[in-house]
Amino acid sequence: MSQQHHKQCDVLIIGAGPAGLSLARGLAPSGLSIVLVETHPESVLANPPYDGREIALTHYSRETMQAWDMWDKVPANEIYRLKDARVLNGRSNYQLHFPQPTAARGKPADSLGFLISNHNIRRAAYEAVKPFANVTLMCEHNAVAVQTTSNQATVTLDNGSQITCQLLVAADSRFSQTRRLLGIAADSHDFGRTVLVFRMRHTLSNNHSAFECFHYGRTLALLPLESNLTNCVVTIDNDKATALMAMNGEELAADITRELNGRLGDMTLVSSIHHYPLVGVHAQAFYGQRSALIGDAAVGMHPVTAHGFNLGLASAKILSELVTQAAQQHRDIGSNSLLAQYQRRHMPHTRMLYHGTNAMVTLFTNDAPPARLLRSLVLRASNHCPPVKRLISKQLTG
Ligand SMILES: Cc1cc2nc3c(=O)[nH]c(=O)nc-3n(C[C@H](O)[C@H](O)[C@H](O)COP(=O)(O)OP(=O)(O)OC[C@H]3O[C@@H](n4cnc5c(N)ncnc54)[C@H](O)[C@@H]3O)c2cc1C
Repeated sequence: MSQQHHKQCDVLIIGAGPAGLSLARGLAPSGLSIVLVETHPESVLANPPYDGREIALTHYSRETMQAWDMWDKVPANEIYRLKDARVLNGRSNYQLHFPQPTAARGKPADSLGFLISNHNIRRAAYEAVKPFANVTLMCEHNAVAVQTTSNQATVTLDNGSQITCQLLVAADSRFSQTRRLLGIAADSHDFGRTVLVFRMRHTLSNNHSAFECFHYGRTLALLPLESNLTNCVVTIDNDKATALMAMNGEELAADITRELNGRLGDMTLVSSIHHYPLVGVHAQAFYGQRSALIGDAAVGMHPVTAHGFNLGLASAKILSELVTQAAQQHRDIGSNSLLAQYQRRHMPHTRMLYHGTNAMVTLFTNDAPPARLLRSLVLRASNHCPPVKRLISKQLTG
């Protein structure tokens, strides 16, 4: 193979989604040479389209994004405050309430967290990476083969060129091709459901409260943006999703208004509708020889508990700190011991959240009479158990 078809770098990241770009930004000050391979053209990374996702971010994620110059790159009027959260079950008006906190991460706080559109996070991450000359973007390419030895990893791209690195990182989504090529197994759970996301304007204020309504037959989450603008997240069985997706704006607004018993007044659809399959994935290992998994490639969460990107950012932070430290101390940045340390620091938390979320979703989407009763009891018990509420609030704020 000719010289220009064989590139060398220190860290090769497959996937320039929010997790891959965040890792590149976290690593960039180390001076290591970093290559990001991404399927999409660079114009899409620079100006990602609206995709319906509003990402609920913890205070901890905000700190990380601030440290990596990503937070300030999001327009201030498009960072929305998530004051408090309420959970409802079935047709009952009883609410499990997670109140507005007075402090988070040792500082005064007036919100549980923040909401930022996914396309704004992606653009901010791209802009934060761009100024670094040691980060190279190779867009419109796919990784098609991977080979690892004890001292390097080599990736073959779809144009036949190869890149050799000390550390290979898979950040190519929950359906990660790189994870498969590395032979790292993953547990996956297909919920048999689809999630639909869209924005509605409404005549009554949402008071900046988030709602998770576990209605019978479908789940509806309301994420407050402006006081009269809310992101609606409907999860519904796949066979019923088609009918909902076929509705025009007026029909959908009427459907959601009915579902909410008019809680937000008259509603109007003001965005395009986006849909995603509900499949949760947890890799059995977060590293292999000369390789690591981050973001959704490591753990792809059900969105109901809003942990996905928060965990992706945490994975990028942990790995970038370990790699930067090793580089500063002239140690091997892709050693087994370093990667095992990454897994030890990240996996226990993700396992607990992944299985906890799946168990909760399984219960709260089961409409059989005994499950309905248990759902109601769980809500009431949680409301009257301060340690449980504190634990969940802490997960929400980070
Ligand atoms: C409806 C919905 C709501 C959500 N809400 C929240 C929330 O409130 N809070 C939260 O924290 N998270 C939330 N999430 C999760 C969050 O969106 C994801 O965790 C996050 O986008 C994952 O980022 P990622 O970079 O790991 O993967 P992705 O965003 O999937 O990016 C992967 C990138 O890899 C590229 N790629 C794929 N294959 C290849 C290849 N072979 N070669 C090169 N490039 C490749 C893709 O083009 C893409 O750019 C939500 C998700 C959904 C669907």
